[in-house]
Amino acid sequence: MSYLRLMGANDFDVVVAGAGLAGATLAVALARGGLRVALVDPQPFEAQTAAAFDGRASAISYAPFRIWRTLGVAERLAEAQPINGMVVTEGAPSSAAPRLPSPAWIGFELSDLDGVDAGEPLGWMIENRHARAALAEAVAEAGVTVIAPATVESVEPDAAGATVRLAGGAPLRAALVAAADGRDSALRRAAGIDVTGWDYEQSALVATVSHERPHEGVARQVFLPSGPLAVLPLTGNRSSLVWTEAPERAKALASVAPEAFASLLLRRIGGALGAVTLEGPRWTHALRLQLAEQHVGERLALVGDAACSVHPLAGQGLNLGLKDAAALAETLVDAARLGEDIGLAAVLHRYARRRRFDAATLAAATDGLRRIYAERNPSVRAVRGAGVALANGFGPARRFFAREAGGAAGAAPRLLRGLPL
Ligand SMILES: Cc1cc2nc3c(=O)[nH]c(=O)nc-3n(C[C@H](O)[C@H](O)[C@H](O)COP(=O)(O)OP(=O)(O)OC[C@H]3O[C@@H](n4cnc5c(N)ncnc54)[C@H](O)[C@@H]3O)c2cc1C
Repeated sequence: MSYLRLMGANDFDVVVAGAGLAGATLAVALARGGLRVALVDPQPFEAQTAAAFDGRASAISYAPFRIWRTLGVAERLAEAQPINGMVVTEGAPSSAAPRLPSPAWIGFELSDLDGVDAGEPLGWMIENRHARAALAEAVAEAGVTVIAPATVESVEPDAAGATVRLAGGAPLRAALVAAADGRDSALRRAAGIDVTGWDYEQSALVATVSHERPHEGVARQVFLPSGPLAVLPLTGNRSSLVWTEAPERAKALASVAPEAFASLLLRRIGGALGAVTLEGPRWTHALRLQLAEQHVGERLALVGDAACSVHPLAGQGLNLGLKDAAALAETLVDAARLGEDIGLAAVLHRYARRRRFDAATLAAATDGLRRIYAERNPSVRAVRGAGVALANGFGPARRFFAREAGGAAGAAPRLLRGLPL
């Protein structure tokens, strides 16, 4: 069936529900590919770029970062810190013992990426507020219609398209709706798509610290019995913390005096960065693993956390969302160029096939890592230490992990290879 429609002011090729980092990236990619796009979000768009909106910083691996480079988002970032190396260490097992990093470590560096990726760092650390501001500019420049504040209340698919009903606006028509409405996606639920997963009964405390000594662009992750603690390099002598603890402990850490916080932190990360000072507010995020049982429904495609939400220990959640955006944009733009109806099941299944395996593998891998590092049994710990030492000493294994984490493994969409749509 050929795809030819007359378009009115409320008619779009794609309505993207959710202007988070994944949804906004998708909207820019689709519009750059020549599709007519509406981006809908309950939050006023400008509010998302305020410093107090989201205190997180995201580690974006080198391949997903190419999406932002190709779409003209990267050049609008106020600042971005290259990640030149990663060091993963293990903390002491007993809560009574001083929790200094142990020698059971694995390290990645630039040489773990072969010639294909020459000149790129392992990844970039970007404060979410800067990413949101850069995306807001790119959304405007790409000609995306932003409808915010407005909430997508329902999607009614039919043979010719879908009617999208909004709280706070006139109904829209589109060939396809992209649900980028986050982990608790109402659109996914309304489409009857179930999820598998569980609550981790852990919270991640997020804060920014400044420190005496430079981080040299090295991302540090300390696995402690209570959960992983990541110290991720930001521009200047600053780092972003993602400190996983039991929810009540994370809450206490969020309110303890800044000096006490700094001293608790130093006990866990050791003195490599010198004295540390808390900068600005602290946030806590409840953690859950969740994978949608399908990536697509009737005239509906799930993107970002709506499709898959993982533990932040490997810094991969947004990377997954960016890869979803790149794969969906390529699938839809190519289908539209061939004159296909972009909302048909046959087209959507091409997207699902491209993303399903990556999402399921990453969900299992992050969950497995979390479990294996939470293990207190001495025999399991000994086997794990030996495995890590082996992987660290064996270049091909290290390179395999670096390329997987970098998002360059498998058949990549054009945007992930730095090519335009
Ligand atoms: C502590 C922590 C640290 C992290 N660190 C990293 C990292 O270093 N690297 C990494 O890759 N990932 C990281 N992540 C994961 C990453 O933050 C998420 O995967 C990512 O932000 C998800 O983006 P999203 O756009 O899919 O969803 P969201 O950011 O949840 O956006 C969803 C949007 O949908 C809107 N919405 C909701 N309902 C509706 C509706 N009915 N209609 C329209 N819009 C709607 C919401 O207002 C919101 O703007 C981390 C996560 C946590 C918790």
